[in-house]
Amino acid sequence: MRSWSSPVVPKLEGTGPRLRLWDSADRVLRPITPGRKAGMYVCGITPYDATHLGHAATYLAFDLVHRLWLDAGHEVEYTQNITDVDDPLLERAERDQRDWQGLAAEQIELFRTDMAALRVVPPHDYVGVTESVDLVVAMIEKLVANQSAYVVTEGEYPDVYHRITATEDFGYVSGYDRDEMVRIFRERGGDPDRAGKADPLDALLWRAARPGEPSWPSPFGPGRPGWHIECSAIALDRIGFGFDVQGGGADLVFPHHEFSAAHAQAQIGHGRFARNYVHAGMIGLDGEKMSKSRGNLVFVSKLRAAGVDPSAIRLALFAGHYRADRSWDQGLLEEAQARLARWRQAASLASGPAAHDAAARLREHLANDLDTPKGLAAVDSWAVEALAHGGSDRAAPGLVATAVDALLGVSLVP
Ligand code: ZN
Repeated sequence: MRSWSSPVVPKLEGTGPRLRLWDSADRVLRPITPGRKAGMYVCGITPYDATHLGHAATYLAFDLVHRLWLDAGHEVEYTQNITDVDDPLLERAERDQRDWQGLAAEQIELFRTDMAALRVVPPHDYVGVTESVDLVVAMIEKLVANQSAYVVTEGEYPDVYHRITATEDFGYVSGYDRDEMVRIFRERGGDPDRAGKADPLDALLWRAARPGEPSWPSPFGPGRPGWHIECSAIALDRIGFGFDVQGGGADLVFPHHEFSAAHAQAQIGHGRFARNYVHAGMIGLDGEKMSKSRGNLVFVSKLRAAGVDPSAIRLALFAGHYRADRSWDQGLLEEAQARLARWRQAASLASGPAAHDAAARLREHLANDLDTPKGLAAVDSWAVEALAHGGSDRAAPGLVATAVDALLGVSLVP
Protein backbone atom coordinates (compact mmCIF):
# COMPACT_ATOMS: atom_id res chain seq x y z
CA MET A 1 0.00 0.00 0.00
CA ARG A 2 1.17 3.54 -0.64
CA SER A 3 2.65 5.13 2.49
CA TRP A 4 3.14 8.91 2.69
CA SER A 5 5.68 11.42 1.48
CA SER A 6 8.92 11.55 3.41
CA PRO A 7 10.21 14.68 5.09
CA VAL A 8 13.75 15.64 4.09
CA VAL A 9 16.03 14.33 6.86
CA PRO A 10 19.16 16.49 6.86
CA LYS A 11 22.52 14.87 7.50
CA LEU A 12 24.19 15.97 10.70
CA GLU A 13 27.97 16.18 10.71
CA GLY A 14 29.70 13.00 11.99
CA THR A 15 28.05 9.76 13.05
CA GLY A 16 25.62 9.36 15.93
CA PRO A 17 26.29 7.06 18.90
CA ARG A 18 24.97 3.52 19.21
CA LEU A 19 21.32 3.46 20.25
CA ARG A 20 20.35 1.84 23.56
CA LEU A 21 16.73 0.85 24.21
CA TRP A 22 14.75 -0.76 27.00
CA ASP A 23 13.78 -4.29 26.03
CA SER A 24 10.46 -4.88 27.74
CA ALA A 25 10.68 -8.68 27.33
CA ASP A 26 14.02 -9.03 29.14
CA ARG A 27 13.44 -5.88 31.21
CA VAL A 28 16.86 -4.52 30.50
CA LEU A 29 18.36 -1.45 28.86
CA ARG A 30 20.79 -2.59 26.20
CA PRO A 31 22.58 -1.52 23.05
CA ILE A 32 20.72 -2.34 19.85
CA THR A 33 23.19 -4.01 17.51
CA PRO A 34 21.93 -4.07 13.95
CA GLY A 35 24.24 -4.82 11.05
CA ARG A 36 24.45 -2.38 8.18
CA LYS A 37 20.70 -2.79 7.79
CA ALA A 38 18.45 -2.24 10.78
CA GLY A 39 15.05 -3.94 10.73
CA MET A 40 11.99 -2.60 12.54
CA TYR A 41 8.37 -3.66 12.58
CA VAL A 42 5.83 -1.38 14.23
CA CYS A 43 2.20 -2.47 14.44
CA GLY A 44 -0.05 -0.13 12.54
CA ILE A 45 -3.56 1.12 13.06
CA THR A 46 -6.90 -0.52 12.67
CA PRO A 47 -8.35 2.17 10.43
CA TYR A 48 -11.04 3.81 12.52
CA ASP A 49 -10.62 6.65 15.04
CA ALA A 50 -7.30 7.67 13.45
CA THR A 51 -5.08 9.45 14.42
CA HIS A 52 -5.46 10.15 18.13
CA LEU A 53 -2.58 11.33 20.29
CA GLY A 54 -1.94 7.82 21.62
CA HIS A 55 -1.24 6.69 18.04
CA ALA A 56 0.86 9.78 17.42
CA ALA A 57 2.99 9.23 20.54
CA THR A 58 3.76 5.65 19.50
CA TYR A 59 4.70 6.44 15.89
CA LEU A 60 6.73 9.44 16.99
CA ALA A 61 8.73 7.30 19.43
CA PHE A 62 9.63 4.85 16.66
CA ASP A 63 10.28 7.75 14.29
CA LEU A 64 13.06 8.71 16.72
CA VAL A 65 14.47 5.17 16.48
CA HIS A 66 14.35 5.47 12.69
CA ARG A 67 16.09 8.87 12.73
CA LEU A 68 18.76 7.77 15.22
CA TRP A 69 19.58 4.73 13.11
CA LEU A 70 19.91 6.94 10.03
CA ASP A 71 22.15 9.26 12.05
CA ALA A 72 24.28 6.27 13.14
CA GLY A 73 24.75 5.30 9.48
CA HIS A 74 22.35 2.38 9.17
CA GLU A 75 20.09 1.60 6.31
CA VAL A 76 16.65 1.18 7.87
CA GLU A 77 14.15 -1.46 6.80
CA TYR A 78 10.93 -0.38 8.42
CA THR A 79 7.67 -2.24 7.98
CA GLN A 80 4.27 -1.19 9.31
CA ASN A 81 0.98 -2.99 8.76
CA ILE A 82 -2.59 -1.79 8.59
CA THR A 83 -5.20 -4.03 10.20
CA ASP A 84 -7.66 -3.20 7.46
CA VAL A 85 -9.99 -6.09 8.20
CA ASP A 86 -10.81 -6.96 11.80
CA ASP A 87 -13.74 -7.07 14.23
CA PRO A 88 -13.46 -3.49 15.57
CA LEU A 89 -13.42 -2.04 12.04
CA LEU A 90 -16.40 -4.14 10.95
CA GLU A 91 -18.29 -3.23 14.14
CA ARG A 92 -17.64 0.47 13.62
CA ALA A 93 -18.73 0.27 9.98
CA GLU A 94 -21.94 -1.46 11.03
CA ARG A 95 -22.62 1.02 13.84
CA ASP A 96 -22.19 3.92 11.42
CA GLN A 97 -24.04 2.06 8.63
CA ARG A 98 -21.05 2.37 6.34
CA ASP A 99 -19.21 0.16 3.94
CA TRP A 100 -16.17 -1.19 5.87
CA GLN A 101 -13.81 -0.73 2.92
CA GLY A 102 -14.86 2.88 2.47
CA LEU A 103 -14.38 3.58 6.17
CA ALA A 104 -10.94 1.93 6.11
CA ALA A 105 -9.82 3.83 3.00
CA GLU A 106 -10.91 7.16 4.47
CA GLN A 107 -9.19 6.53 7.80
CA ILE A 108 -5.97 5.29 6.18
CA GLU A 109 -5.86 8.46 4.10
CA LEU A 110 -6.38 10.58 7.21
CA PHE A 111 -3.58 8.68 8.97
CA ARG A 112 -1.22 9.28 6.02
CA THR A 113 -2.01 12.99 6.04
CA ASP A 114 -1.40 13.20 9.79
CA MET A 115 1.89 11.26 9.59
CA ALA A 116 3.16 13.44 6.74
CA ALA A 117 2.17 16.60 8.64
CA LEU A 118 3.94 15.30 11.76
CA ARG A 119 7.07 14.74 9.60
CA VAL A 120 7.23 11.03 10.42
CA VAL A 121 9.69 9.23 8.14
CA PRO A 122 7.47 6.66 6.39
CA PRO A 123 7.97 2.89 6.53
CA HIS A 124 9.52 1.33 3.43
CA ASP A 125 6.78 -1.26 3.44
CA TYR A 126 3.32 -0.15 4.43
CA VAL A 127 1.22 -3.27 4.15
CA GLY A 128 -2.50 -3.89 4.46
CA VAL A 129 -3.77 -7.20 5.77
CA THR A 130 -6.18 -7.37 2.85
CA GLU A 131 -3.08 -7.37 0.61
CA SER A 132 -1.44 -10.14 2.62
CA VAL A 133 -4.07 -12.87 2.93
CA ASP A 134 -2.02 -15.25 0.75
CA LEU A 135 0.97 -14.86 3.07
CA VAL A 136 -1.20 -15.55 6.10
CA VAL A 137 -2.82 -18.61 4.53
CA ALA A 138 0.58 -20.05 3.55
CA MET A 139 1.84 -19.54 7.10
CA ILE A 140 -1.20 -21.16 8.70
CA GLU A 141 -0.77 -24.16 6.38
CA LYS A 142 2.76 -24.60 7.72
CA LEU A 143 1.58 -24.30 11.32
CA VAL A 144 -1.16 -26.88 10.75
CA ALA A 145 1.36 -29.18 9.05
CA ASN A 146 3.78 -29.04 11.99
CA GLN A 147 0.93 -29.43 14.51
CA SER A 148 1.29 -25.97 15.99
CA ALA A 149 -2.24 -25.21 14.80
CA TYR A 150 -5.54 -27.07 14.63
CA VAL A 151 -9.08 -26.68 13.42
CA VAL A 152 -11.77 -26.44 16.10
CA THR A 153 -14.47 -28.91 15.23
CA GLU A 154 -16.93 -28.01 17.97
CA GLY A 155 -19.65 -25.54 16.96
CA GLU A 156 -20.81 -24.24 13.65
CA TYR A 157 -17.57 -22.64 12.41
CA PRO A 158 -14.27 -24.45 11.71
CA ASP A 159 -11.93 -21.73 13.02
CA VAL A 160 -8.20 -22.44 13.14
CA TYR A 161 -6.26 -21.90 16.39
CA HIS A 162 -2.63 -21.78 17.47
CA ARG A 163 -1.52 -24.02 20.36
CA ILE A 164 0.18 -22.08 23.14
CA THR A 165 2.20 -25.25 23.75
CA ALA A 166 3.75 -24.92 20.26
CA THR A 167 6.74 -22.95 21.57
CA GLU A 168 8.67 -23.65 24.76
CA ASP A 169 9.21 -20.04 25.69
CA PHE A 170 5.58 -18.84 25.35
CA GLY A 171 5.07 -15.89 27.72
CA TYR A 172 8.54 -14.39 27.42
CA VAL A 173 7.38 -11.20 25.68
CA SER A 174 4.97 -10.14 28.44
CA GLY A 175 6.32 -12.09 31.40
CA TYR A 176 2.71 -12.35 32.67
CA ASP A 177 1.50 -15.29 34.72
CA ARG A 178 -1.33 -17.41 33.43
CA ASP A 179 -4.16 -15.72 35.37
CA GLU A 180 -3.08 -12.33 34.11
CA MET A 181 -2.85 -13.65 30.56
CA VAL A 182 -6.39 -15.02 30.66
CA ARG A 183 -7.75 -11.79 32.11
CA ILE A 184 -6.04 -9.55 29.54
CA PHE A 185 -6.77 -11.96 26.68
CA ARG A 186 -10.49 -11.66 27.46
CA GLU A 187 -10.23 -7.86 27.71
CA ARG A 188 -8.32 -7.34 24.46
CA GLY A 189 -10.16 -9.29 21.83
CA GLY A 190 -9.30 -12.87 22.86
CA ASP A 191 -11.83 -15.66 23.29
CA PRO A 192 -10.82 -17.85 26.26
CA ASP A 193 -14.35 -19.23 26.52
CA ARG A 194 -14.65 -20.50 22.94
CA ALA A 195 -15.74 -24.15 23.18
CA GLY A 196 -13.56 -26.82 21.63
CA LYS A 197 -10.17 -25.16 22.05
CA ALA A 198 -7.34 -27.25 23.48
CA ASP A 199 -6.41 -24.40 25.83
CA PRO A 200 -8.37 -21.23 26.69
CA LEU A 201 -5.32 -19.18 25.66
CA ASP A 202 -5.01 -20.68 22.17
CA ALA A 203 -5.26 -17.78 19.72
CA LEU A 204 -7.33 -17.46 16.57
CA LEU A 205 -5.38 -17.80 13.31
CA TRP A 206 -8.21 -18.06 10.79
CA ARG A 207 -11.81 -17.05 11.39
CA ALA A 208 -14.20 -19.06 9.28
CA ALA A 209 -16.63 -16.84 7.35
CA ARG A 210 -19.78 -15.75 9.22
CA PRO A 211 -22.80 -14.51 7.28
CA GLY A 212 -22.31 -10.93 6.13
CA GLU A 213 -18.57 -10.85 6.91
CA PRO A 214 -15.84 -10.40 4.30
CA SER A 215 -13.92 -13.58 3.52
CA TRP A 216 -11.17 -15.01 1.35
CA PRO A 217 -10.76 -18.58 0.09
CA SER A 218 -8.32 -20.92 1.86
CA PRO A 219 -7.61 -24.66 2.24
CA PHE A 220 -9.48 -24.43 5.60
CA GLY A 221 -12.52 -22.89 3.97
CA PRO A 222 -13.45 -19.24 3.37
CA GLY A 223 -12.60 -16.85 6.18
CA ARG A 224 -10.22 -14.09 7.25
CA PRO A 225 -6.97 -13.76 9.19
CA GLY A 226 -6.77 -13.53 12.96
CA TRP A 227 -5.09 -10.43 14.32
CA HIS A 228 -1.69 -11.70 15.50
CA ILE A 229 -0.81 -13.92 12.55
CA GLU A 230 -1.06 -10.98 10.14
CA CYS A 231 1.91 -9.28 11.79
CA SER A 232 3.92 -12.52 12.00
CA ALA A 233 3.36 -13.22 8.31
CA ILE A 234 4.05 -9.66 7.10
CA ALA A 235 7.18 -9.27 9.26
CA LEU A 236 8.62 -12.63 8.16
CA ASP A 237 7.97 -11.78 4.52
CA ARG A 238 9.35 -8.23 4.59
CA ILE A 239 12.17 -8.15 7.16
CA GLY A 240 12.67 -11.80 8.11
CA PHE A 241 12.97 -13.68 11.38
CA GLY A 242 15.07 -12.24 14.21
CA PHE A 243 14.81 -8.57 13.20
CA ASP A 244 16.04 -5.78 15.46
CA VAL A 245 12.99 -4.05 16.95
CA GLN A 246 9.36 -5.06 17.35
CA GLY A 247 7.57 -1.90 18.38
CA GLY A 248 4.13 -0.74 19.38
CA GLY A 249 2.06 0.71 22.19
CA ALA A 250 2.30 -0.95 25.59
CA ASP A 251 -1.26 -2.24 25.21
CA LEU A 252 0.03 -4.57 22.46
CA VAL A 253 2.44 -6.50 24.71
CA PHE A 254 -0.20 -9.10 25.41
CA PRO A 255 -1.80 -10.83 23.66
CA HIS A 256 -0.72 -9.28 20.37
CA HIS A 257 3.08 -9.28 20.49
CA GLU A 258 3.20 -12.43 22.56
CA PHE A 259 1.25 -14.33 19.92
CA SER A 260 2.86 -12.74 16.85
CA ALA A 261 6.18 -13.95 18.27
CA ALA A 262 4.81 -17.39 19.15
CA HIS A 263 3.27 -17.91 15.69
CA ALA A 264 6.51 -17.01 13.92
CA GLN A 265 8.65 -19.06 16.27
CA ALA A 266 6.37 -22.06 15.90
CA GLN A 267 6.95 -21.90 12.15
CA ILE A 268 10.73 -21.41 12.31
CA GLY A 269 11.23 -23.87 15.17
CA HIS A 270 13.89 -22.05 17.17
CA GLY A 271 15.09 -18.60 18.19
CA ARG A 272 13.34 -15.35 18.90
CA PHE A 273 10.97 -13.47 16.56
CA ALA A 274 12.50 -10.05 17.36
CA ARG A 275 15.79 -9.33 19.05
CA ASN A 276 14.24 -6.48 21.02
CA TYR A 277 10.69 -5.65 22.08
CA VAL A 278 10.12 -1.95 22.61
CA HIS A 279 6.88 -0.42 23.87
CA ALA A 280 5.58 3.11 24.13
CA GLY A 281 3.48 4.32 27.08
CA MET A 282 -0.15 5.38 26.93
CA ILE A 283 -1.41 8.96 26.61
CA GLY A 284 -4.22 10.20 28.86
CA LEU A 285 -6.25 13.41 28.73
CA ASP A 286 -6.35 15.77 31.72
CA GLY A 287 -5.26 12.92 33.98
CA GLU A 288 -7.78 10.38 32.66
CA LYS A 289 -7.12 7.42 30.38
CA MET A 290 -7.74 8.42 26.75
CA SER A 291 -9.97 5.78 25.20
CA LYS A 292 -12.69 5.21 22.68
CA SER A 293 -15.08 4.12 25.39
CA ARG A 294 -14.64 7.36 27.36
CA GLY A 295 -15.06 9.37 24.18
CA ASN A 296 -12.18 11.67 25.11
CA LEU A 297 -9.82 11.00 22.21
CA VAL A 298 -7.82 14.00 20.99
CA PHE A 299 -7.14 13.85 17.25
CA VAL A 300 -4.09 15.13 15.42
CA SER A 301 -6.30 16.29 12.55
CA LYS A 302 -8.44 18.42 14.89
CA LEU A 303 -5.36 20.07 16.39
CA ARG A 304 -4.03 20.75 12.90
CA ALA A 305 -7.37 22.19 11.81
CA ALA A 306 -7.21 24.51 14.83
CA GLY A 307 -3.88 25.81 13.52
CA VAL A 308 -1.54 23.94 15.88
CA ASP A 309 1.92 23.53 14.34
CA PRO A 310 2.75 19.81 14.04
CA SER A 311 6.26 20.54 15.35
CA ALA A 312 4.60 21.75 18.58
CA ILE A 313 2.70 18.44 18.81
CA ARG A 314 6.03 16.62 18.51
CA LEU A 315 7.61 18.76 21.21
CA ALA A 316 4.61 18.34 23.53
CA LEU A 317 4.77 14.54 23.25
CA PHE A 318 8.57 14.56 23.57
CA ALA A 319 8.39 16.59 26.80
CA GLY A 320 7.73 13.25 28.55
CA HIS A 321 9.64 9.99 28.15
CA TYR A 322 8.23 7.62 25.54
CA ARG A 323 7.87 4.72 27.98
CA ALA A 324 5.97 6.71 30.60
CA ASP A 325 2.18 6.78 30.67
CA ARG A 326 1.52 10.48 30.52
CA SER A 327 -1.24 13.00 30.17
CA TRP A 328 -2.07 15.52 27.47
CA ASP A 329 -3.58 18.86 28.42
CA GLN A 330 -3.75 22.41 27.12
CA GLY A 331 -0.87 23.49 29.37
CA LEU A 332 1.44 20.88 27.87
CA LEU A 333 0.63 22.09 24.37
CA GLU A 334 1.12 25.74 25.32
CA GLU A 335 4.53 24.99 26.86
CA ALA A 336 5.54 23.19 23.68
CA GLN A 337 4.37 26.12 21.54
CA ALA A 338 6.40 28.53 23.69
CA ARG A 339 9.46 26.27 23.44
CA LEU A 340 9.09 26.02 19.65
CA ALA A 341 8.82 29.81 19.36
CA ARG A 342 11.95 30.23 21.53
CA TRP A 343 13.95 27.72 19.51
CA ARG A 344 12.85 29.31 16.23
CA GLN A 345 13.77 32.76 17.44
CA ALA A 346 17.23 31.58 18.55
CA ALA A 347 17.80 29.62 15.31
CA SER A 348 16.99 32.71 13.26
CA LEU A 349 19.81 34.78 14.82
CA ALA A 350 22.78 35.63 12.60
CA SER A 351 25.12 34.09 15.18
CA GLY A 352 25.04 32.50 18.62
CA PRO A 353 27.07 30.68 21.24
CA ALA A 354 28.95 27.60 19.97
CA ALA A 355 26.50 24.74 19.49
CA HIS A 356 28.62 21.60 18.99
CA ASP A 357 28.21 20.70 22.61
CA ALA A 358 24.42 21.12 22.59
CA ALA A 359 24.12 19.03 19.40
CA ALA A 360 26.33 16.30 20.89
CA ARG A 361 24.28 16.23 24.08
CA LEU A 362 21.04 16.01 22.12
CA ARG A 363 22.45 13.02 20.24
CA GLU A 364 23.68 11.31 23.41
CA HIS A 365 20.44 11.76 25.34
CA LEU A 366 18.29 10.49 22.48
CA ALA A 367 20.58 7.50 21.92
CA ASN A 368 20.11 6.67 25.61
CA ASP A 369 16.64 5.08 25.39
CA LEU A 370 15.18 8.11 23.60
CA ASP A 371 15.58 10.44 26.57
CA THR A 372 13.71 13.34 24.98
CA PRO A 373 13.23 15.36 28.22
CA LYS A 374 17.02 15.66 28.63
CA GLY A 375 17.52 16.15 24.89
CA LEU A 376 15.03 19.02 24.85
CA ALA A 377 16.73 20.54 27.90
CA ALA A 378 20.08 20.52 26.05
CA VAL A 379 18.57 22.54 23.19
CA ASP A 380 16.77 24.82 25.70
CA SER A 381 20.08 25.75 27.35
CA TRP A 382 21.59 26.76 24.03
CA ALA A 383 18.50 28.74 22.99
CA VAL A 384 18.25 30.59 26.31
CA GLU A 385 21.95 31.49 26.15
CA ALA A 386 21.64 32.59 22.51
CA LEU A 387 18.64 34.82 23.23
CA ALA A 388 20.09 36.30 26.43
CA HIS A 389 23.72 36.86 25.48
CA GLY A 390 24.08 36.21 21.75
CA GLY A 391 27.40 34.82 20.57
CA SER A 392 29.86 35.06 17.72
CA ASP A 393 29.54 31.59 16.14
CA ARG A 394 27.88 32.22 12.80
CA ALA A 395 27.37 28.49 12.13
CA ALA A 396 25.70 27.77 15.48
CA PRO A 397 22.04 28.65 14.70
CA GLY A 398 22.17 26.53 11.54
CA LEU A 399 23.79 23.62 13.35
CA VAL A 400 21.06 23.61 16.01
CA ALA A 401 18.33 23.81 13.38
CA THR A 402 19.88 20.87 11.50
CA ALA A 403 20.30 18.75 14.65
CA VAL A 404 16.74 19.42 15.82
CA ASP A 405 15.37 18.66 12.35
CA ALA A 406 17.43 15.49 11.77
CA LEU A 407 17.06 13.93 15.21
CA LEU A 408 13.77 15.26 16.61
CA GLY A 409 11.95 15.89 13.32
CA VAL A 410 11.14 19.38 14.56
CA SER A 411 11.29 22.11 11.92
CA LEU A 412 12.69 25.45 13.07
CA VAL A 413 11.55 27.07 9.84
CA PRO A 414 8.09 28.40 10.67
ZN1 ZN B 1 1.06 -6.19 15.04
